[in-house]
Amino acid sequence: MGCQAARAAVSDYIDGDLDPALARLLEEHLRTCGTCPPLYAALVSVRRRLRATVMAPGKDAGARMAARVRTQLAGEANPEGAAG
Ligand SMILES: [Zn+2]
Repeated sequence: MGCQAARAAVSDYIDGDLDPALARLLEEHLRTCGTCPPLYAALVSVRRRLRATVMAPGKDAGARMAARVRTQLAGEANPEGAAG
């Protein structure tokens, strides 16, 4: 397997979608190639970060929740018939 084929296959390999025979060839290439392993490692870390971002509750969700709570509290801060 050459570098070009390896780089084309590496994305499927990370996703676990790569044909087992091709995966073996790719692993062999990564063991012997001088330039592909760093690219592979970088791609793995990017994928991992992407997945973590998707899984983790976003900051926006927290901010929206806080805004809703604040709105509710503001509504309750003016109860009817408070005068007196
Ligand atoms: Zn290579």
